[in-house]
Amino acid sequence: MIDLVARQIQILRAIIEEFISTAKPVGSDTIDKKFNIGVSPATIRNEMVYLTKQGYLQKSHISAGRIPTPLALRLYVNELMKEKVIFIPHASLIEYVGLDNIEKFKVPYYGNKHILRFESDRNIERKWLKNAGLKVPKLFESAKDIDRAVIVKFHGAKGGKGYFLAKNEKDFKEKIKHHKGEKDYVMQEYIVGVPMFIHYFYSPLNDELEVMGFDKRYESNVDSLGRVSARDQIALPKVDPSYVIVGNIPIVVRESYLPRIIGMGENVIRESKKLVKGGLWGPFCLETIMTPEGDIYVFEISARIVAGTNPYIHGSPYTWLRYNEPMSTGRRIAREIKNAIKKKQLTMILG
Ligand code: ATP
Repeated sequence: MIDLVARQIQILRAIIEEFISTAKPVGSDTIDKKFNIGVSPATIRNEMVYLTKQGYLQKSHISAGRIPTPLALRLYVNELMKEKVIFIPHASLIEYVGLDNIEKFKVPYYGNKHILRFESDRNIERKWLKNAGLKVPKLFESAKDIDRAVIVKFHGAKGGKGYFLAKNEKDFKEKIKHHKGEKDYVMQEYIVGVPMFIHYFYSPLNDELEVMGFDKRYESNVDSLGRVSARDQIALPKVDPSYVIVGNIPIVVRESYLPRIIGMGENVIRESKKLVKGGLWGPFCLETIMTPEGDIYVFEISARIVAGTNPYIHGSPYTWLRYNEPMSTGRRIAREIKNAIKKKQLTMILG
């Protein structure tokens, strides 16, 4: 690997990045057009021949382009490490790369990768929340037991698509007919209240939990049904509620809830330390429903940054009071990394 000069590494890097994004063999023309290497196409071609001889590239059977070898990919990862790249996990990373691959990452990773397993398994997630003393909606094992309104949620539904409500066994059986072959779902007590997403940040550097903000999801068509009276809903061709997210609305929560909300976050952190070494740190979100009786039901936890932090690019009223400067969740993560470097405790926040 030491046999390459800077320009060859630059060309190899461009080829790898192009290959990663297109999954197709890469030709010298593409590198010349898309990347600013600063040398002639002929030089790029010659360097590609050299890189092939050295075992970093291989010829493709389907086109004139080349593809990187495992040796090249290892070099790439090492180069990223030299450049001190840190992965910041978010929902798409987990969805597209997969938990197994993330756990094998060699490039430094912000947060505790091992906690992700606990948020993605509904049963373990539920146990975690219950042990933290949080109220969770009742689960129904069998349709026979349905004695109140339930929301039927399919796994991996990506934002509530296809979910339906059922009021009893008969109603459930009627509606599940439209989801032939679907076996992976839960029947959860439907909580009537305001869906509130609580965004926290926990720093293990100073053992402090911060509230970053709150948001409410704007979901279609469930949030539009209230605009139509019950009488007129009957006139609509299709009134099945759907929970597909279309946006996020910032919220300032009633002040008297705050001590309880902070306590809930602290309990989640405490319990997470029993699940996996180091527990959960960084941004996380409790997805809740608040009822008129003042109960806060938690129906899900996301152990990483979520989209509901986006309304607060310049910070929320809560971060403003604490920092007196714009503080998005992204910036808070960057600040944490800087603080860890200053305190020589970077390994504490990389997991
Ligand atoms: P995933 O990340 O698994 O796709 P999600 O974050 O989209 O899940 P879900 O649990 O799928 O969240 O819920 C989607 C929406 O359904 C919520 O935003 C909320 O409006 C509604 N919802 C979910 N559970 C309940 C419940 N128990 N009672 C009332 N409404 C619920």
